[in-house]
Amino acid sequence: MPESMRYISHHNLEGFGKDGQKKLSNSSILIIGVGGLGSATSLYLTVSGIRKLTLVDFDSVDESNLSRQILFQKQDIGMNKAIVAKEKLKAFNEDILIDAIQKRLDEDELRELIKDSDLIIDATDNLESRLMINQITYEQRKPLCIGAAIRYEGHLITILNKDKDESCLNCLYTLGDESLLDCDGIGVLSPVVGIMGSMMAMECIKTISGLNTGQKNIVSVFDFKNNIYNKINLEKRVNCDVCS
Ligand SMILES: [Zn+2]
Repeated sequence: MPESMRYISHHNLEGFGKDGQKKLSNSSILIIGVGGLGSATSLYLTVSGIRKLTLVDFDSVDESNLSRQILFQKQDIGMNKAIVAKEKLKAFNEDILIDAIQKRLDEDELRELIKDSDLIIDATDNLESRLMINQITYEQRKPLCIGAAIRYEGHLITILNKDKDESCLNCLYTLGDESLLDCDGIGVLSPVVGIMGSMMAMECIKTISGLNTGQKNIVSVFDFKNNIYNKINLEKRVNCDVCS
């Protein structure tokens, strides 16, 4: 297929077009966590024509991941997730630059990677990492997309970090809180992870291409068992030590 045909459905899309595609092809996205959410997000960003993806995960593929982490297969068990994901994604679109980082990053390393990225995807599974990512993206004024999948539910937050009146993840949670965003051991139905990962890719593409009209200070909560969608206001906390 000639290169010009690959993105024809984007080129022909009213309100997106070649300009939108060009913005994608100039952007560098950092995906922290290549589990279920990160698999789906990175796959859609790869086929959509992002210039560069940086994948970060210290974990290796386990048999229990195979029901929902769609980039991984039985033969990948025991291998690092970021490394396997890079190889799989390359097969979908060889034009995309992909860096795979197979270690747990300290704060300075994370700071450097965020500095070099246009948008950060938080696909981690623990509140400590999420709050650190939130703080650094706030300081560096980088757009942040946060997703979570648990039981039959998905949660989605996009923080553009453009305006001073925006709230942040630290307004909602402080360390030690029982988080809406963690799913360890509680269980999740497989497609919930794929849907939320796809929605994170959608938020990323909207933000990079300028389509995101900035629905600020909202946590979108999706109940897929009953097909109910709710919005929770993410109020700015007066004494938030990140954004206030
Ligand atoms: Zn805050």
